Amino acid sequence: VIAKPDYLLRDDVQKFIDRPKKLFINGQWHDSIKGETLEVYDPAVGTKICTVAAGDAEDVDRAVAAARHAFDEGPWSKLNPSERGRLVWRLADLLEEHADEFAQIDALDNGKPVTDARAVDVAFSIELLRYMAGWSNKIYGETIPLTNPADFHAYTLREPVGVVGQIVPWNFPLMMAVWKVAPALAAGCTVILKPAEQTPLSALRLAELTEEAGFPPGVFNVITGFGETAGAAIAAHDNIDKVAFTGSTEVGRLIAHAASGNLKKVSLELGGKSPVIVFGDSDIEQAVAGASSAIFYNNGQTCTAGSRLYVHRKVYDKVVEGIASEASALPIGHGLDPATRIGPLISAEQRDRVTGYIAQGREAGAEVIVGGDTVGDGGYFIQPTILTKTDPSMSVVREEIFGPVLCAMAFDEDTIDSVVREANNSVYGLAASIYTRDISVAHRVAKRLKAGTIGINTHHVVDVALPFGGFKQSGYGRDMGRDAIDQYTEVKSIGIAL
Ligand code: NAD
Repeated sequence: VIAKPDYLLRDDVQKFIDRPKKLFINGQWHDSIKGETLEVYDPAVGTKICTVAAGDAEDVDRAVAAARHAFDEGPWSKLNPSERGRLVWRLADLLEEHADEFAQIDALDNGKPVTDARAVDVAFSIELLRYMAGWSNKIYGETIPLTNPADFHAYTLREPVGVVGQIVPWNFPLMMAVWKVAPALAAGCTVILKPAEQTPLSALRLAELTEEAGFPPGVFNVITGFGETAGAAIAAHDNIDKVAFTGSTEVGRLIAHAASGNLKKVSLELGGKSPVIVFGDSDIEQAVAGASSAIFYNNGQTCTAGSRLYVHRKVYDKVVEGIASEASALPIGHGLDPATRIGPLISAEQRDRVTGYIAQGREAGAEVIVGGDTVGDGGYFIQPTILTKTDPSMSVVREEIFGPVLCAMAFDEDTIDSVVREANNSVYGLAASIYTRDISVAHRVAKRLKAGTIGINTHHVVDVALPFGGFKQSGYGRDMGRDAIDQYTEVKSIGIAL
């Protein structure tokens, strides 16, 4: 394991860590009303980074009151859309100025390689803020001819939903926050963001940038805290108009239930167990690289992780051996080191969950052909792992592990029916990928797979302009693209008797 390179820690990151970490409400920094705090850990070494305020229901009430005021009375609702867009764009500029700082903050807090944090999490967040800033002044309704009565003039308006609560997970701390915040602000909503208790730091730094960018007080609020307290208070709050959630399917169900009180709008981006299908005619090198990054990118702590691999028997050995040799070559280490490709898992709990799944797989007859063990002590590292001799009766094949564990299975038939049936044999439906050189097989299978995003000869297909979300128990609603703007707006119909 590559050791913690303290000497690489940037001064601006150290200064940020040393500042008190409070709740950001109405443009001001507050301790939680009860004075509660939570501790934030570096998962690569298991030691404390800093202490952060832990908000509760009363703090959420305060943030909602501020967001409500900024929305109902202005200034946010009264700002012209181009000015709103300029503020969102300004936030992107500031994020770009501080890109390396944010990459280190997420690498430290989440454990992910700093190179990935800079190239993906931070770069994508900047791009998405700019993309959404562009929508601000292009949100409008339609003029609609009526059938009965015909002598009416009718049109629709698209208006912001109002005050939105946004609850996000720890796997891409900054990026998950920006996926939610960017379209909401661009659409004219006001926001209460709750980052995951494991990774609250980049959301707090983002709040500082919103101050610097000049967002009016109350437009953007951050409540750090635990899910069962702060998160639950947001989901159930009577004065919040919409809740947007990314996280586990289990908590998604709780959110939908809590939100039913005032019937606030709900969007849920939940778990996955995404299949990767490699046909016999595929470009093997491309399939190996694609399947490997599908599962090992971000340590498998990716909702779209390609965790079920189906390979045509005639190329099975080659593909699985190829992925195994990539897996064993990935440098494991502290996220701050630019050479690291695999960081730690987020917590001891998550490490134990993943090793528990590997043990269950072994007991049920699966074979570990590479990895399978924890690495070092102190941090929460685990080797990239491949299980063979797996079948759909096993928990490792059915359940989301959320770690670097791939289940490989061979398929025989030359018809595509059986493999499509197996790929669709899941309660989840977030993503899937197909490797083949046959264009009709690619399109035919893409159409039949029940998932929100399909990659052909690639796996993680994610772009600021492309709707992203799940079928089945992977949730409802879409992030990114125009669809995300639609989710933060309501349509109002207006008719005039001529
Ligand atoms: P989680 O569901 O435990 O937590 C997510 C967030 O919900 C955290 O902020 C947490 O504090 C909060 N929370 C927990 N209990 C709550 C409650 N009772 N009420 C309100 N909020 C509550 O998920 P996690 O372990 O942080 O993240 C991993 C999960 O997220 C995986 O299942 C993964 O697939 C999913 N995920 C999905 C997507 C997607 O876009 N579909 C993206 C990333 C992660």
